[in-house]
Amino acid sequence: MGPIIGITPDYDNISNRYKVHEDYVSAVKDGGGYPILLFPQLSIPAFIDGIILSGGGDIDPLLFDEEPLKESGEITPQRDHFELALCKAALEKNIPILGICRGMQVMNIALGGTIYQDISVQTNSSLKHNQQAPRPYATHSIWIEQSTLLAALWRNKEKTTVNSFHHQAVAQLGKGLRVCARSQDGLVEAIDHTEYSFVLGVQWHPEAMKTEEQKLLFSAFIKAATGYQK
Ligand code: MN
Repeated sequence: MGPIIGITPDYDNISNRYKVHEDYVSAVKDGGGYPILLFPQLSIPAFIDGIILSGGGDIDPLLFDEEPLKESGEITPQRDHFELALCKAALEKNIPILGICRGMQVMNIALGGTIYQDISVQTNSSLKHNQQAPRPYATHSIWIEQSTLLAALWRNKEKTTVNSFHHQAVAQLGKGLRVCARSQDGLVEAIDHTEYSFVLGVQWHPEAMKTEEQKLLFSAFIKAATGYQK
């Protein structure tokens, strides 16, 4: 059946419903994993072999010791607290983690890092990171840092293009994290951890792109989860 991959769903504050985009489910399934959803709870079930921190809205700035800028967006406190605790618990057990978009930022904050609450007011970037193009379509380039997890799984490729749906970005890196890729404006587009076996965060949405390159990212994650399972 393949390794069991727990995906954190998004939460709708108004309708009190959990939601998850089908692309996450298909990407895990196609990569050879068995996807399940993880709801807020105190401990990680023993049968979980890998965790995907999925995309979503903003993280409460108070959780990284900042007051909210007026440009910050909607927050889901219940989700924030759950995912931060989940990420720390998963790191402790060395469970492979893939953080996507918001998930990469959760990973960074869980390790003591910070994020820009809004790129347009807190950085000098003039690059469009909130694309107005179909979800699978890549709209900006990234440059990959050598000797990182991303470089290894893409066989030392130096540059590629990705989709982009974010107005926030990693600012101060969390403990043990390393930059794997940057966009032209210097913003962090991917991170990995130097000590754990597979901890990767990407600012784009690989599950939506469905390219061979992005499928490699999922198969490497599922492979790591298989290793953890054994
Ligand atoms: Mn971007």
